[in-house]
Amino acid sequence: MPTRVTKRGEERTPLSDEPDVLICGASFAGLAVARELAGSGADVLVADRYAIGERQTSACGIPTEWLRRLDLMEAERQRFETLVVHTPHGTSRWQLPWTFSTFDYRELCRLLWRDCDARFEAATVTGRARDGQGVETDRGTIRAPLIVDALGWRRVLASGDGYQPPSAPLSRGLEVHPDGEGEDLEIWIDRRYVRAGYGWSFPAGEEVRVGVGSFDPRFHVRATTELLAADLDRDTVRYQGNWIPHKLRRGTDDGIFFAGDSAGHCLPLTAEGIRTAFYFGVFLGRELRGVAEGRQTREEAERRYGSFHDAHGWKFRSLLLVQKALPLVPPRLLAVVVKVVGVRHFLDWAFGHYLRIAPPSSSGP
Ligand SMILES: Cc1cc2nc3c(=O)[nH]c(=O)nc-3n(C[C@H](O)[C@H](O)[C@H](O)COP(=O)(O)OP(=O)(O)OC[C@H]3O[C@@H](n4cnc5c(N)ncnc54)[C@H](O)[C@@H]3O)c2cc1C
Repeated sequence: MPTRVTKRGEERTPLSDEPDVLICGASFAGLAVARELAGSGADVLVADRYAIGERQTSACGIPTEWLRRLDLMEAERQRFETLVVHTPHGTSRWQLPWTFSTFDYRELCRLLWRDCDARFEAATVTGRARDGQGVETDRGTIRAPLIVDALGWRRVLASGDGYQPPSAPLSRGLEVHPDGEGEDLEIWIDRRYVRAGYGWSFPAGEEVRVGVGSFDPRFHVRATTELLAADLDRDTVRYQGNWIPHKLRRGTDDGIFFAGDSAGHCLPLTAEGIRTAFYFGVFLGRELRGVAEGRQTREEAERRYGSFHDAHGWKFRSLLLVQKALPLVPPRLLAVVVKVVGVRHFLDWAFGHYLRIAPPSSSGP
């Protein structure tokens, strides 16, 4: 099932379904929610425009402990104990207090799906049903008492808050995936590649993910992604890119639950959105499980999930402040800052706090 290619044309037969829980989006957030519902007895339907695992949506870097806690280590491709930070005036190697891993997207999705007992349908979600009781897809209407939007930054099921790039608070990221190997997890804070943002090289076994992310949605990253790849002598093949939200949105809206990029759960400054999609997805899945098992009402789940989401607001706002300040630091001073941050005690403190924004321990039983 996970490796099935997406149905197209006439294969996309009409669909009319009424599951107990409808999860729209079968990537990190959606699959995390579905997994938490396994064994609850609820009829769970997951819908995505592509087959599960078919379209990689990121460079797939994550703190190793998150993979371990979620029993996803088989998907790991490479592990890093240091982060190499390049600036125009110097390079520092930061010794991380915890390791970071890159993984294979398809394999990770397969493992997540293995632990679900949900059904899957390939369907493009186009919006809410007119009566508000379900969603419209290119194959028909699906009705469910519990609906999750894990569709990414477009937040397709929201009641329209006018988010449109380039005026919305979105970053943009683009990367290439050439064959090749590398030893180090590296980033570049260098105006040659992007004025506000950073470039990266994430090796993942036999492939390297090289890209540029811009906090400014008006800055086009294609030319400088190619420049960075050329500087690293990497081929510019297998492009993948997307908008990346850098501001929290509401966790629930008009009876719909949002998780992952649809709720703005990607962290500002670092654009790390996988573990936060897991973190909020796991919490939401448990709340919905409580409803499925009759321990609470949908309204209670909405309240509890909304409060949990809101309680993280100040952490996201703090990172956004740093994101805004970083481009203002003159390049020579930046090299000094990068060196100072790299001092062991400070690094342990800063990265400890950073990990605790969405700690792996929260994914345990
Ligand atoms: C270039 C780039 C590199 C990145 N690298 C990293 C990284 O290394 N580490 C990290 O933590 N974060 C990274 N991110 C951020 C990360 O990719 C996102 O935060 C993360 O993917 C969010 O997960 P999600 O499940 O919410 O949404 P997504 O992964 O975007 O998944 C949304 C799902 O919904 C489906 N979908 C969308 N619209 C529809 C529709 N209308 N109908 C049906 N299905 C639909 C999509 O097919 C997809 O399966 C990166 C982002 C970019 C752009």
